[in-house]
Amino acid sequence: MTEHIKTLIAGAWRDASGPQYATEYPADGSTVATLHAATAADVDEAVQAAERARLQPAWADLKPHERAGMLYRIAAGIRDRAEALAQLQRLDNGKPINETRALVASAAGTFQFFAAACETMEDTITPSRGDYVSMSVHEPLGVVGAITPWNSPIASEAQKLAPALAAGCAVVFKPAEITPRMAIELARIAQQAGVPDGIISVLPGKGSVVGDALVRHPLIRRIAFTGGTAVGLGIARLAAERLMPTSLELGGKSPTIVCADADLDHAVAGVLFGIFSSSGESCIAGSRAFVHASVYEAFKERLLAGVKALRVGDPASERTQMGPLVSHAHRESVERYVQLGVDEGGKVLAGGKRPIGDEYGRGSYYLPTVIEGLPNQARMCQEEIFGPVLALLPWSDESDLIAQCNDSMYGLASGIWTRDYKTAWRIGAALQTGTVWVNTYKLFSVSTPFGGVKMSGTGREKGRLGILEYTNQKSYYWGTNAAPLPWSR
Ligand code: NAD
Repeated sequence: MTEHIKTLIAGAWRDASGPQYATEYPADGSTVATLHAATAADVDEAVQAAERARLQPAWADLKPHERAGMLYRIAAGIRDRAEALAQLQRLDNGKPINETRALVASAAGTFQFFAAACETMEDTITPSRGDYVSMSVHEPLGVVGAITPWNSPIASEAQKLAPALAAGCAVVFKPAEITPRMAIELARIAQQAGVPDGIISVLPGKGSVVGDALVRHPLIRRIAFTGGTAVGLGIARLAAERLMPTSLELGGKSPTIVCADADLDHAVAGVLFGIFSSSGESCIAGSRAFVHASVYEAFKERLLAGVKALRVGDPASERTQMGPLVSHAHRESVERYVQLGVDEGGKVLAGGKRPIGDEYGRGSYYLPTVIEGLPNQARMCQEEIFGPVLALLPWSDESDLIAQCNDSMYGLASGIWTRDYKTAWRIGAALQTGTVWVNTYKLFSVSTPFGGVKMSGTGREKGRLGILEYTNQKSYYWGTNAAPLPWSR
């Protein structure tokens, strides 16, 4: 039976005020849940309640160790319900269960990390240059609007909620319309952990309605956004009108470089994982592989053997490496890109079509696809496909390679495969990306800041200082001179 989900708005579990809609399981198109979309009136109610709640002593007066205690309890709550959350997320976006389990574990770790950051955060007494004591303290920014995409909900939501709560802010969430459940469950766990009513609201629905109203609301003091570059740019423009800080984690077209001296088996495994895990629906997908001409054919042969062996299928199976794409509409968009690549002169070496078989019938599956013969300037090599499509490009001159890697509006991540650390350091320094992986790919740690450059975004999430993004830095001067200020004498 289809479940009907209520959401948490201004401290009450209820239906949002907009029309009812349904979410679908991408593996077979079945309806998973029904819920109501939020409206601009819901946004206003949630933001007003958040502003009131954050100023109440029950939240504003919490000592760091007490606030940290709540975050530790949220981490424990996520771990207690880990399997159920992983299964729900699989139903929401069709990711293989092994991946959703890892995302849930990472979300719990994020709350644990920011609990520690909250408890150990220090303000500073600055060197005095006169008869005063000067200090710099951090205070909560206020109500934060958090807007997230569908590809890794619980992880991207934890990356916003944990530091925001740690800093003492309130959060109004706008999860992706088709994947609302993780934000709703996080709100439930936070409430059970003792976070006061009103501090967290979750407003499902369309970005153009709910997201837009959230960004425009005058009481919102910061937008933490993860999503596509076009939407991020629109948010940046609106935010600029009132100088509202934002973090924008946007799209990518990440290059992976295979050098002549690379361990080819490791490089093949890394490139396969970099582009085809999460069915390529990953902002950091390594979608352009630049392979040195001297090893190009050998690499290609091993890569194609690896692609053939990938297990595409049921996301509920622990053996599955690639599940379906998130929706039929998204699969059609990926198909259009592959056709574009062919029209631009590319040759499909693997995939380029839907898998055939009863198990794939109603799901939005697409085969892992490799294309060669395209210049880096081709649209297929410049635009984010957000699907399992790899462009293979040979290189021979290092400066030309770097120019091609950087010839992209994006700058999110990159990978280098070489046995020579000096080569890796030299190339890494020249790449215009927020993250460089050397002899590995798609590794993440909550201790290490993450974010992009160029059109991949601004701001950083994670890292011990990630909490500061949700604070206002305030300066105090405490006069220590018993005499009046000299000017008045
Ligand atoms: P999207 O930009 O379409 O949507 C992201 C969120 O923004 C959704 O909640 C959506 O409803 C909302 N939104 C849409 N229009 C809005 C508006 N006018 N105002 C406010 N909010 C609005 O992205 P998507 O399709 O959900 O996700 C895929 C994109 O996310 C890809 O480009 C991917 O690279 C990017 N992404 C980036 C990172 C990162 O950390 N850099 C991580 C994951 C995904």
